[in-house]
Formats: sequence, C-alpha cells, structure tokens
Amino acid sequence: MPTHYIQANTGGRLHPASEPSISPLNRGFLYGDAIYEVWRTYHGIIFAWEEHWERLRSSALALHISLEFTPGQVLSEIRRTVAAYRATVPGPGELYIRLQITRGAGPIGLDTALADKADFLILVQPCPEISAERLRAGLRLSVATSLRRNPVLSLDPAWKTGNYLNNLLCLREARARGFDDVVILNFSGEVAEASVSNIAFAKGGRLVTPPLSAGILGGITRRLILGGIAAAAGIAAAEEPVRTGDFPSMDECFLLSTTKDVVPVGEIDGIAFKLGPDSVAMRLKKGFADAAAGYASAHPDLAA
Ligand code: PLP
Repeated sequence: MPTHYIQANTGGRLHPASEPSISPLNRGFLYGDAIYEVWRTYHGIIFAWEEHWERLRSSALALHISLEFTPGQVLSEIRRTVAAYRATVPGPGELYIRLQITRGAGPIGLDTALADKADFLILVQPCPEISAERLRAGLRLSVATSLRRNPVLSLDPAWKTGNYLNNLLCLREARARGFDDVVILNFSGEVAEASVSNIAFAKGGRLVTPPLSAGILGGITRRLILGGIAAAAGIAAAEEPVRTGDFPSMDECFLLSTTKDVVPVGEIDGIAFKLGPDSVAMRLKKGFADAAAGYASAHPDLAA
C-alpha cells in the first residue's frame, strides 16, 4: 500500500487510488494496451503542458488509439482531481499528475476491434522530492547485463506506452545488485537511457547525451535542456553515441526526467563521477529551476 494519499479519477469518477478503478477487462491492464504522460507542477503551475500533450498525441497515433478527449477536457478533469486531492491533503507542495489512457475494455482477445472506446485515469500525488543528501552524493547506477532496450522496430521506446516491463526488469536487475537505477544499452551496445529517465554526461564542461536514434524516449526534460536551458547556463550540448567504454573519460553523469529534472550520478558500476555545487549537473539544475519559474509566471492559466 502507498505510504501517502493518492487521488484517482477513473473516467470522471473521483476516488482514493486505494479503491477499485478499472474493469478487469480493461486492455491497459490485460495487455499494456495504453499510453501515458506525467506532468509535475512548479510553483503550482502544470509545467510543459503543451509538450507533454503533443507527445501523448504522437504515442496515441503510433498505437492507433483514437483520443476521445480534447486538451481542455483533460485539463478540467486534472483540475477536478487536484481539487479532490487538496481537499484530502491540504497545504502547498508540488504535485505529480499522471494521465493514463487505455484503448478501453472488451471481450478477451488481442484484436483492437474488440475494444469499446479509449478511457482515462488520472492519478495525483505529491511530486517526489530529492533530498539534499541525494543531490550531494549522486545516484548509484549499474549497467543492465541481461536485457537491452527494446529495438526501435519492436516496441519503439519513443512511444510512451503502458508497457514498461523491459525497463522494470532492467531496474530489477540493478536493484538486486544494490544500485539505485540502471543504465540500459541498445542492441548496438550504445547507452540508451535509465529506467524512467534520459541520461547525459559532461566532458570538458560540455554536455553529451545519446541521440534519439539510440532508441530512447524523447524526454521533455532532455529536449528543454538541449533546446535552450543548457545554452542559457553557458553549457554547450551535443547528441552523440556513448558506449560503456567511454565512462572513464566522462567527468560527470546525470539523469533527466520530469519528476527529477536534473539529478547527479555519483557512479556507474564503480566508475566515479565528479559531483558538487559547481558541477555541470547542478548548474543545469539551477538553470532548469529558473526556466520552470519563468514558465510558471507566464502560464497562470495552467494553475492546477
Ligand atoms: N526515458 C524513459 C524511459 C522515461 O520513462 C522517462 C519518463 O518517464 C524519461 C526518459 C524522461 O522523460 P521526461 O523528461 O519527458 O519525463
């Protein structure tokens, strides 16, 4: 059971997430026949609303799921869910907002024609906080040895689907060895990403991150950093293939994701990386916080 309250909204029905939600015949549950997005708030404003919505649309297109909802309808359902959360857990605090869309329910069978119609589920909980100690010591990562990232011509990692078994099993392997997270390689042996984050390195003051062609999720955090936040912080950035043999020559490593923005990595399988307040990772984290604050003041219409 979760240690904190999670508010659910199943197709418009508000309820605690600890209570029953979808049908046992829901295809998201049976087959992972679903897509999802996660937003977080900064200063109470839903961050990068458009970017996540656009990615949701392209995931839907890739899976041939017809989105039955407009962005405005989803936003108002998110607001209802947040209001219900706040009524149960009063007080400030940034939020994690997850929107899961499934192809719906129907008779058992893979044929998509059996699905009734796409439905939605929204989950709201506190945005997980990263402790100062964690930022100081960095995450400990290990390279997955038994599985590789799904090939692009299989279940393309660019699609944000409800099927995370590949990442889940890779994470399990690293956790079993006592590490915090995993580095997943693609079939060419290049670094792809971590379990739920993109990965980046710093070398000679420059940010280096695997290209989308490595077979990764096009993370919004990664895109915003490459698209201007790095430059604004005075950090040059490049998309280049990275191999495990390159690790010893990298100065820093860090993870990028919506809930964490930038988090330093202290080691990968015993190879240590530079940490500290002057690191590229922490300068990017500060730059990201500034950009998020700017976004929040420019988007009062996205108050959650
Ligand atoms: N890569 C994977 C596999 C993910 O699941 C995620 C986020 O869930 C990311 C990268 C980071 O993407 P974003 O920055 O859009 O959160």
